[in-house]
Amino acid sequence: MPVDEVTDDIRRLVDRMIDVMIEHNGIGLAAPQIGIGLRIFVVSVDGTRESAKVYINPELEVSGIQEANEEGCLSVPGVFAKIKRYRKCVITATDLEGKRFTEKANGLQVRAFQHEYDHLEGTLIKDRMGQVQLIAARRQLRELRERYEKDK
Ligand SMILES: [Zn+2]
Repeated sequence: MPVDEVTDDIRRLVDRMIDVMIEHNGIGLAAPQIGIGLRIFVVSVDGTRESAKVYINPELEVSGIQEANEEGCLSVPGVFAKIKRYRKCVITATDLEGKRFTEKANGLQVRAFQHEYDHLEGTLIKDRMGQVQLIAARRQLRELRERYEKDK
């Protein structure tokens, strides 16, 4: 769901998202990962709070060729897979003051943006893994599923 207005509640939610991301040594986190169906994600490519930046109602414009590289996800711990992503992207999003801004991503950011954007669309890395990778990761995925079943 898009964010209608950047309120104090949204700012508090973003604070919490940054906390969760840092606690789990992540470089990105999307609101749906903590059960909030809003189009918000935070990214900090060096994993520090100082570098953490929020992207509300983001739009991605990807370009160039795709490149496969190792990727993990806080929602599927222990699973790493080579995922194909575009090498270039420009992001337009709303900041915490409610202003739209556009920036060109580079390096790891490009991959992080595409990964977090996927979460907003309900896509996880396992949905982007090829058959061979899925088979290789089946044990980790099974363990995750069992843990999830137990928690229910
Ligand atoms: Zn993820």
